Amino acid sequence: VQEADDLPEGVRRRIQDHPCYSEQAHHHFARMHVAVAPACNIQCHYCNRKYDCANESRPGVVSRRLTPAEAIDRVLWVAEQVPELSVVGIAGPGDALANPERTFQTLEGIRRHAPDLKLCLSTNGLALPEHVDTLMELGVEHVTVTVNAVDPEVGARIHPWVRGPGCRLHGEAAAERLIRQQQEGIRRLVERGALVKVNSVLIPGINDRHLREVARALRGQGVFLHNIMPLIARPEHGTRFGLDGRREPTPAELAAVRDACGGDVRMMRHCRQCRADAVGRLGEDLGPRFEREPPPPAL
Ligand code: SF4
Ligand code: SF4
Repeated sequence: VQEADDLPEGVRRRIQDHPCYSEQAHHHFARMHVAVAPACNIQCHYCNRKYDCANESRPGVVSRRLTPAEAIDRVLWVAEQVPELSVVGIAGPGDALANPERTFQTLEGIRRHAPDLKLCLSTNGLALPEHVDTLMELGVEHVTVTVNAVDPEVGARIHPWVRGPGCRLHGEAAAERLIRQQQEGIRRLVERGALVKVNSVLIPGINDRHLREVARALRGQGVFLHNIMPLIARPEHGTRFGLDGRREPTPAELAAVRDACGGDVRMMRHCRQCRADAVGRLGEDLGPRFEREPPPPAL
């Protein structure tokens, strides 16, 4: 695994102000999420749709949903007040690419009005292959894909259904489609020079032993960073329980899986599982402050 100092200059430049891709940057730079994407095209057993997508955020939190125009206004307004803001991401509250019009309208507006901000997106990957070209045209160079399994038998225990062409797929057929789409999407992104981060939710008894295999596959695919996140399964977080009352991993279990997988891809250890409308450095949320203040003027 390469340390940051060993990275090629071009890559270092691209991650140096992105708090999720660079551990140093997360002390100095802030990112903001705008919750413009309400729908989702799959079901994860651990997800409660009343709350934010767990791809990139802490479950049990309801973000204020914004229209693309509201989101663009809010970004410009926050950027004026938070000079360390460097990245704007779309991570829900559903799946960014299950709402392509809203997502792309938002990204396009931000790029036009605030071209210095980096654009970022997080997705379950189902609709990724068909959107890679648009993402690249919009200058989205950082994409996160949530990959919990590379074996349909394991995936079927995590995702009960996935949208297929004209119908819903269930069981292993669903997982197989999701995995195929994720792999094809990642392949196209890497080919186009995007920096791909993969999030995996560690679910004890389901994919804990399997994540080693996931990490090996990611290495072969040229993924830049792997973020293994613990399942958050507390009733107060509204987690839906389709996983037979699965428990959260202990900190020791999480550390052991990260260590086992860390030889394959750079391992992210500074993730703080923030909310889908978070504002600030990782682990800090200035979002409520901006909620209390008056809304920004229209463009
Ligand atoms: Fe929920 Fe996100 Fe999974 Fe969709 S991708 S079911 S919003 S956790
Ligand atoms: Fe960071 Fe993920 Fe948000 Fe991008 S989408 S800014 S990687 S938390």
